[in-house]
Amino acid sequence: MGALGTHKALGLAKDKGARFVLASTSEVYGDPEVNPQPETYWGNVNPIGPRGVYDEAKRYAEAMTMAYHRSHGMAVRIVRIFNTYGPRMRTEDGRAVPNFITQALRGKPITVYGDGSQTRSLTYVSDLVDGIDRLARSSSTGPINIGNPVEMTLLEIAETIKRLTKSRSKIVFKKLPVDDPKVRRPDITLARKKLKWEPKVPVEEGLKRTIAYFRKVL
Ligand code: UDP
Repeated sequence: MGALGTHKALGLAKDKGARFVLASTSEVYGDPEVNPQPETYWGNVNPIGPRGVYDEAKRYAEAMTMAYHRSHGMAVRIVRIFNTYGPRMRTEDGRAVPNFITQALRGKPITVYGDGSQTRSLTYVSDLVDGIDRLARSSSTGPINIGNPVEMTLLEIAETIKRLTKSRSKIVFKKLPVDDPKVRRPDITLARKKLKWEPKVPVEEGLKRTIAYFRKVL
């Protein structure tokens, strides 16, 4: 879908003379050997691993988008979105933040995969929306990273959620999925310079708002 869908959507945008904004991902960096990741880094993706279809689809989507830009002179924008969270995520979404909050509020074990030393950088949804909006209206093609450069280990994220929910859940350690990226942190020099953008919502504040939402729906 990421590959074929992007190709079809590019064709439609070309036909209508529309500006094309591609929602790409930090997954294009794979399991990065460079931390933080600047847009100039080409990434470290295992094409035949369990994340391969998604990662390669997004990389192909970027390649296609740039090809349409170069060959057809189309106006395109590429945003590389880092881990984002906030209210209205699904409780059974499976990703770390909704899993941890749901588990903490239900008093169930909080499942940290691996030893929890892998890192992620959490962006609050309103900051992401602001970044994408600025890119869409700007004259920069990108790709441009939009993400919060505050890097945390998964264990820190689990402990923070446990504390903020005042949960008595235990933190338990489960098997680390294959090819799980060990680190992920955006270099946002380009977004600061080109879009005058940087995240405004601190992680604890964003998590509090997200927890309040999850309390309502659970
Ligand atoms: N993770 C975890 N417990 C969970 C869900 C995810 O420890 O219940 C870990 C996962 O192994 C990864 C990180 O949290 O290291 C972020 O996973 P997520 O699926 O949220 O996003 P990803 O960055 O992998 O796309």
